[in-house]
Amino acid sequence: AKVAGKNCFRFYSRAMDLAVERRVNLEHELRGAWERGELSLVYQPVYRLSDRTMVGAEALLRWNHPKHGQVAPSVFIDVAEQSGLIESLGPRVLHAACSEAVRWQQMLPGREPLTVAVNVSPRQLRGGGALAEVVASCLKETGLEAGRLHLELTETAVIGDEAHVGEELARLRETGVKVLLDDFGTGFSGLSHLRRVPVDGVKIDRSFIADILRDPDDLALTSAIIAMAHSLGITVIAEGVEKAGQYALLRERGCDQAQGYWLGSPMPGPEFLALLKEEGR
Ligand code: C2E
Ligand code: CA
Ligand code: CA
Ligand code: CA
Repeated sequence: AKVAGKNCFRFYSRAMDLAVERRVNLEHELRGAWERGELSLVYQPVYRLSDRTMVGAEALLRWNHPKHGQVAPSVFIDVAEQSGLIESLGPRVLHAACSEAVRWQQMLPGREPLTVAVNVSPRQLRGGGALAEVVASCLKETGLEAGRLHLELTETAVIGDEAHVGEELARLRETGVKVLLDDFGTGFSGLSHLRRVPVDGVKIDRSFIADILRDPDDLALTSAIIAMAHSLGITVIAEGVEKAGQYALLRERGCDQAQGYWLGSPMPGPEFLALLKEEGR
């Protein structure tokens, strides 16, 4: 029994070692991935519901690993956050997205300027105004108008230390950028939370949007979020719109903007620019 127990222990510890080893490897390989050109941004178009005009894009990070190919963002973003790598990666992503948005404007000067949304991880929000400084210098270096930059923070990142986060958000908004609450509705913080956290917009999580055509509860919740946000002067964006029916229903309920596979998938910069030119015709 002793021997079996020992083997058993060895088996589990080996499996754990492998998981840890893979993580350590990923972390090691993620270090320097930007410099090697393995990381890039893709852009998913965001549309205004009332007239179906493209008003902006969300920048999403991709990692093309030399051995494993595309690594899921849910995996490598987590590695980047846990290891602290996000602190050097975050500003690069921000800078690249802002430069890209300036390029769109330069290529299509007559067009209504587009917004660019960048995801910010909670870890980037932790140091006394550090993110606001990064954002300010990024706007200065790229020349992007502050109001064109949207920063997306998950609802769960904002709950908890509200006084501290509130202060950080206030500093960010002083730079003129807009702050959006991402994955809204999943954090169970309740709509009343919106009164205390100074944000410009909420992005309704795609898990709510997925079922609005079939589930009256999800539709009721979505409608309530829209009404509540609007009464506070907050913009509402729906994510994960995969069907025409969802789009029509959201439009009918007064939702402001939407993104999703039905409207457009995330795509590399040059492809996004081509789409933009196409739509401008
Ligand atoms: P997110 O911010 O909620 O981004 C939206 C995710 O939904 C993206 O997944 C996008 O590809 C996917 N999506 C878009 N339309 C649809 C749709 O119609 N249906 C469905 N089912 N999915 C749709 P992705 O690119 O895999 O990114 C996953 C998460 O990784 C993001 O979720 C975000 O939290 C994080 N992430 C991505 N890029 C960055 C980054 O540069 N920085 C940080 N901190 N996090 C990032
Ligand atoms: Ca997002
Ligand atoms: Ca989201
Ligand atoms: Ca449901």
